[in-house]
Amino acid sequence: MTDPVLVTHDICKSFGALQASRDISLDLRPGEIHALIGPNGAGKSTLIKQIAGGLRPDRGTVQFLGRDVTALDTAARARMGLARTFQISALAMEYTVLQNAVLGALGARGGVFRFFGNVLKDNDLRSAAEAALDRVGLSDQAGTVTGELSHGQRRLLEVAVALTLRPKAFLMDEPMAGLGADGSKRLTGFLDGLRDEAPILLVEHDMDAVFALADRISVLVYGQIIATGTAAEIRENPEVRKAYLGE
Ligand code: ADP
Ligand code: MG
Repeated sequence: MTDPVLVTHDICKSFGALQASRDISLDLRPGEIHALIGPNGAGKSTLIKQIAGGLRPDRGTVQFLGRDVTALDTAARARMGLARTFQISALAMEYTVLQNAVLGALGARGGVFRFFGNVLKDNDLRSAAEAALDRVGLSDQAGTVTGELSHGQRRLLEVAVALTLRPKAFLMDEPMAGLGADGSKRLTGFLDGLRDEAPILLVEHDMDAVFALADRISVLVYGQIIATGTAAEIRENPEVRKAYLGE
């Protein structure tokens, strides 16, 4: 087996008396979608934040591309190719779709926001941005003000912005949230094709999407991974059925 792209080793995180992450060890392998599921408050977002670098674990390590990145901040991990889409939109609503994508491409190169005025004239950045928009099917909206996009289109734009990083791995926290059936289907189709380029650690409540996409599923309950396996293994796991599926 080839080496995993991303590994967490015994991650622990407490908020006061609450243990939000208890000895969490998981890995993300090349070409896979690894779904992380669990009830509300189980600690899914807390784990994603620690992997992305926004939150420091109390104990344990995060390795990315064979390197210990536990001490690196979000920006440094992003520059290494660890991409993240957010549960809450981080787009600049008053800018156009293309401007947001260019900003993403600029950020990926460690650029600075205030030079934005000149950035649209940078052909490299612009073509990286246009290519990303094309991939998610938003080329026709390049000139549209982002605030005027539908919810589903904004989600796709967030993915496009992340794509400008040329990511080596993706972290996604509930990308389907708030999408209608059409939007979910479109995003599911897109993620399906994305895994070969960059494996995805996917937190998602939409079980249809999870079972359709995931090569492996980990189940998190009260800050602990109680099972990891294929969709079939997870469906049949008695502990999972009891703790999570409510049986
Ligand atoms: P999930 O994403 O699985 O719904 P979270 O990771 O958001 O769960 O939260 C896990 C637990 O940690 C919850 O009980 C939540 O209230 C708590 N929590 C999350 N972030 C903080 C924080 N910054 N301070 C205190 N408690 C937090
Ligand atoms: Mg969450």
